[in-house]
Amino acid sequence: MAIKFCPRCRSMMVLVKEGGRTVWKCPKCGYVEEVNSAVKLVERATITKRDDKPIVLTKSGEEALPKVRKVCPRCGNEEAYFWVQQTRAADEPPTRFYKCTRCGYVWREYE
Ligand SMILES: [Zn+2]
Ligand SMILES: [Zn+2]
Repeated sequence: MAIKFCPRCRSMMVLVKEGGRTVWKCPKCGYVEEVNSAVKLVERATITKRDDKPIVLTKSGEEALPKVRKVCPRCGNEEAYFWVQQTRAADEPPTRFYKCTRCGYVWREYE
């Protein structure tokens, strides 16, 4: 847990619930400061992350993918990550996905 000091009196501030949200509050002089909203956004993104299409790869997942020589239709880069996924009915061939290593553009290729 982060530690924050009051800009007014330099006392250690505490996290308190106020009106449904959490704020930093100085117990000595009563100074209140918003908790950085960026932290909350990150937490929400993690919770709502799903395996729905379009496919979003985590950074570690990307590093594990093989790279192939493939020209990106958007920026012309000649290297892309490559993976195969069964996206439709099981009796249909799987779809090949490519992701540009430069601009991050994702496209698919049916066979
Ligand atoms: Zn204070
Ligand atoms: Zn590209």
